[in-house]
Amino acid sequence: MMPPNATIAKTTCCIIGGGPAGIMLGFLLARSGIEVAVLEKHNDFFRDFRGDTIHPSTLELMYELGLLDKLLAIRHSELRRASICVGDQIVTMADLSHLPTHAKFVALMPQWDFLNFLASEAYQFPSFKLRMGWEATGLMHHNGATTGVIANTPNGAVEIPATLTVGCDGRHPTSREAAHLPLIEEGVPIDVLWFRLSRSPDDPENGLGYVNYGHFLVLINRLDYFQIAFLIPKNGFEKMQQQGLESFQQSIAQVVPFLANRVAEIDSWDKVKLLTVQVNRLSQWSSPGLLCIGDAAHAMSPVGGIGINIALQDAVATANLLTEALQSNSLTPHHLQHVQQYRERAVHNTQRFQVFAHGVLNRVLNNPAPVKLPLSLRILTSIPGFKYLTARFIGMGLQPEHIKTRPA
Ligand SMILES: Cc1cc2nc3c(=O)[nH]c(=O)nc-3n(C[C@H](O)[C@H](O)[C@H](O)COP(=O)(O)OP(=O)(O)OC[C@H]3O[C@@H](n4cnc5c(N)ncnc54)[C@H](O)[C@@H]3O)c2cc1C
Repeated sequence: MMPPNATIAKTTCCIIGGGPAGIMLGFLLARSGIEVAVLEKHNDFFRDFRGDTIHPSTLELMYELGLLDKLLAIRHSELRRASICVGDQIVTMADLSHLPTHAKFVALMPQWDFLNFLASEAYQFPSFKLRMGWEATGLMHHNGATTGVIANTPNGAVEIPATLTVGCDGRHPTSREAAHLPLIEEGVPIDVLWFRLSRSPDDPENGLGYVNYGHFLVLINRLDYFQIAFLIPKNGFEKMQQQGLESFQQSIAQVVPFLANRVAEIDSWDKVKLLTVQVNRLSQWSSPGLLCIGDAAHAMSPVGGIGINIALQDAVATANLLTEALQSNSLTPHHLQHVQQYRERAVHNTQRFQVFAHGVLNRVLNNPAPVKLPLSLRILTSIPGFKYLTARFIGMGLQPEHIKTRPA
């Protein structure tokens, strides 16, 4: 058993957080022979409601790494078009069939399957260490620079000295708080309730948003069941609970009539999870010895289902920009600032789109009347190229990255 406050061997890069950003970065650095320790506070990846979308640009990264076929051998469904049902009319918002990628679809796969897959591939590199059940509680400092991580482990507290610490610890990060990095918050008028309902083989396959009677639902096809997002006004969950479970069930059935025969599966509020939506970003992603990426640097809203993709692209860009300096032990604060300069614009513009969409959704949630497809949306979706532009934005993001590092 390790004594409290033991110091373990120095690593080149200590990554806090084993989400998409952390595991991808750990994988890529270890692939280039760099010593990496990824700390994940949970003992497994088996947590629901973390987003299940693996976008064409991420699938393209898997192709570049020679892992695409192996990944797609895992049970998943494929979203090739994203549509929205307004009232009783369906319009296609995005058609991914023409994307310049090998996989022209979003793979819908539980995030734990994706993370387990990537971690198991990373284990083949001797310099990759994944520490499950290790929670970062603070940072080590020397002369104003971060010099490693303090963590609670199942065997007590340890210090992990590191040349570079990367905060990939999501929306409530220890890393950025310990480093006092300045945060800019965007107001968000919505929250999301998540639950699942069983799926029949003859139910719609493609991604569908449903709008009516002041409600907005998104159904994600997970083959045997639908993972369902139900948008509510910010802080509106308590009021909803007071109105009762039956009223909630009726709202679902009213907007998506084919679910009426199974809404009774939600027989307790315990089956409904509230996820608070945040949109924020650091004005400074790094300080000497520390870099934040993914949601730790810029929490993304679920709108567009693009947060995982952005976190993964951040990780790829970080590996591309820092590998050489880490290999030659010549890392400077300038290298870390470069990651922000390189990624920030694409991330910020994506958040601008999400904030705009929140405004539209907020108007939907405040209009309890039956809705009809607005003429503007009808015209917009009939413009040639519209569905391909939206597909490009959703499927590839504003700045898709490519693997530029080499295996050791
Ligand atoms: C309701 C909701 C639904 C969403 N749905 C989607 C979707 O469908 N598609 C999509 O692309 N995006 C979605 N997003 C956004 C997406 O979840 C995030 O943008 C994405 O997960 C960010 O990845 P990340 O690796 O930066 O952080 P995270 O995925 O949050 O991973 C952070 C990891 O760090 C660990 N951690 C935290 N603190 C510590 C610590 N102190 N020590 C050690 N480990 C720690 C956590 O346990 C976690 O595993 C959704 C977001 C919300 C709120």
